[in-house]
Amino acid sequence: MTTKLRRYHITTFGCQMNKADSERMAGILEDMGFEWSENPDGADLILYNTCTIRDNAEQKVYSYLGRQAKRKHEQPDLTLIVAGCVAQQEGEQLLRRVPELDLVMGPQHANRLQDLLQQVLDGSQVVATEPIHIVEDITKPRRDSTVTAWVNIIYGCNERCTYCVVPNVRGTEQSRTPEAIRSEMEELGRQGYKEVTLLGQNIDAYGRDLPGSTPSGRHMHTLTDLLDYVHDVPEIERIRFATSHPRYFTERLIRACQELPKVCEHFHIPFQSGDNEVLKAMKRGYTQEKYRRIIDKIREYMPDASISADAIVGFPGETEKQFENTLKLVEDIGFDQLNTAAYSPRPGTPAAIWDNQLSEEVKSDRLQRLNHLVAQKAAERSQRYLGRIEEVLVEEQNPKNPSQVMGRTRGNRLTFFSGNIEQLKGRTVKVKITEVRAFSLTGEPC
Ligand code: SF4
Repeated sequence: MTTKLRRYHITTFGCQMNKADSERMAGILEDMGFEWSENPDGADLILYNTCTIRDNAEQKVYSYLGRQAKRKHEQPDLTLIVAGCVAQQEGEQLLRRVPELDLVMGPQHANRLQDLLQQVLDGSQVVATEPIHIVEDITKPRRDSTVTAWVNIIYGCNERCTYCVVPNVRGTEQSRTPEAIRSEMEELGRQGYKEVTLLGQNIDAYGRDLPGSTPSGRHMHTLTDLLDYVHDVPEIERIRFATSHPRYFTERLIRACQELPKVCEHFHIPFQSGDNEVLKAMKRGYTQEKYRRIIDKIREYMPDASISADAIVGFPGETEKQFENTLKLVEDIGFDQLNTAAYSPRPGTPAAIWDNQLSEEVKSDRLQRLNHLVAQKAAERSQRYLGRIEEVLVEEQNPKNPSQVMGRTRGNRLTFFSGNIEQLKGRTVKVKITEVRAFSLTGEPC
């Protein structure tokens, strides 16, 4: 369709869902004849796939946009696109703020990039943020890795956590059919991929919106059923999934993860706060006691399982005592990894307008104290690997040391060891761990 070879560059902010969306949009652009440009200034089409989970994530895109908008005055045929959650949140307002923009498209429209871009190339300025049913995308995503791949299984979220902007910008839950997910995984297996991560904002909600699922709660489709259904996909050696929700996490799922050999013993289950009053104000739908029982149950079935989570400090009204309950939970559970953040009021979320906001000083003080404890506990947890033999799926060469390769254990621990990437890429290697750090390991192939 395009005569002159046009080059594109995508910058992705935020979560794995955004990374997976960017890979699909890149695939669509390459199908349209565009070619990737590593350097944004060498591209004729610039796409920012944005995140609005916290204010600093949102502000980042405006600084990038400002520069490209200036560039567009010298290069009028430059195409500027904003996709993702800021696009959905701001919509038309973004055009008023950056009139040089050609296309503003919400996450639900990622698979429609070809149609929307055609309207732009025909001379229109386009805003696509209306809620739609997400169509299955047949385009071959341009994936960052040739060894591991993201596979979306459910889009959107029906929860109403009072701090979270996701339901507003990603819409209501839309599960893909088990058949569509399996055929994507089969295609990945044929292409030589070894590991798949199944993705969903609230992955435990998978299937409850699919036909056949009954309001009585006797769901025909659940994440556990899906894991069982895709487990024997040829060539795929490892299956991971994220992000779990303690409210819907079941023992049936834990048992399936123990019984299904390809499912890795790594669970990402955000708890957000260790205090029940704060959890109530967040509308998370579980107590810290329930959360602890879930972790205990996982460790009952898989004593060595890796546990990671997310936590927010400085939620409106959080007292020092309530914050200490978060520290206590982190101390007691001992996470392999914990993503931490200070509460950031988001547009359109209930908690953003509450009058008991905490000061930035208090929030950053608590964040610092929590991060200190997290690093300490992660270093303690890492000790268990010393001297052990771990299976590492080799993904890349170590960018800092070309004589080494790097990959992950089944517990999702980044591991480095000496080896040749040409020979080892995509292979699972037994590695004896000789050195441990809080968040990564070093070893020798054995
Ligand atoms: S479960 Fe809560 S925190 Fe997670 S995406 Fe949904 S609304 Fe946001």
